Amino acid sequence: MYLIGLTGGIASGKSTVAKMLADLGAVIIDADQLAREVVQPGTPGLAAIAAEFGGDILLADGTLNRPALGAIIFSDPIRRTLLNNITHPAVRQLSRDQIAAAAAADPSAIVVYDVPLLAEAVAGGLVSFDLVVVVQADADTRIQRMMELRGLTRAEATHRITAQASDAERLALADVVIDNTGTVDATLAQVNALWERVRSAEAARLP
Ligand code: ATP
Repeated sequence: MYLIGLTGGIASGKSTVAKMLADLGAVIIDADQLAREVVQPGTPGLAAIAAEFGGDILLADGTLNRPALGAIIFSDPIRRTLLNNITHPAVRQLSRDQIAAAAAADPSAIVVYDVPLLAEAVAGGLVSFDLVVVVQADADTRIQRMMELRGLTRAEATHRITAQASDAERLALADVVIDNTGTVDATLAQVNALWERVRSAEAARLP
C-alpha cells in the first residue's frame, strides 16, 4: 500500500485531482465525507454534539441541524474548538480504519487521503504519508472559480480563503505540488506524471 496525502486550499482543485487519480486506479478516502459520517444519527459523535450544544441542535428527524451549528461556531471560537474536539478524533479514527481496510483489500493499492486539514491530520498522529501532494492555484483564480462556479460574491470567496491555513503553511508540507492555475488538461498531465512516479515507487517496494 502506498499512501498519498492530498491537500490544498479551498477551491484549489483537490476534488478535481482526486477524481483524476481515481480514474487512474487510486482508492480515494475523502475526509469531508468522513466528517459527515461521524455525525450521522446513532453515532457517538452526534450524541456528544447534542450533549454539548443541546437537543435543539438536532432536527425533528434526528439529524444534525448544520446551519444552526454553523451559526453558533462561526461567531464563537471556543465552541468551535469544542466541536472540533468531538469530530476530529472521530474522523482520524475512521480514516485510519478505512486506510487499513483499503490495504487489507489490496496490498498494492495506491490510496489517496483527500484532506483539507492535512496539517492537523499529521499533528494528530495519523499514519504517516508516503507522499504529500499539495494542489495549488493562485488566489485570484480560486476566487474567480468560486464566484463563477459556486455563485459566491467576491467578498465571500476572499473570506473563505483568508479563514484557512496559508499557502506557505501547506507548501511547507509538500513533497509534490500540482499547479492547477491553468487548464484541466495541464493539470491532468501533471497528475499522469505523478501517477507514473507513484506506481514505480510502489512497484519497487513489492516483494
Ligand atoms: P473545496 O476546497 O471547496 O472542496 P476543491 O479544492 O476540491 O474545493 P474543486 O472542487 O476540484 O476544488 O475545484 C473548484 C472548482 O473549480 C470546481 O467547480 C471545478 O470544477 C473547477 N476547476 C477545478 N480545476 C479547474 C481548472 N483547471 N480549470 C477550470 N476550472 C477548474
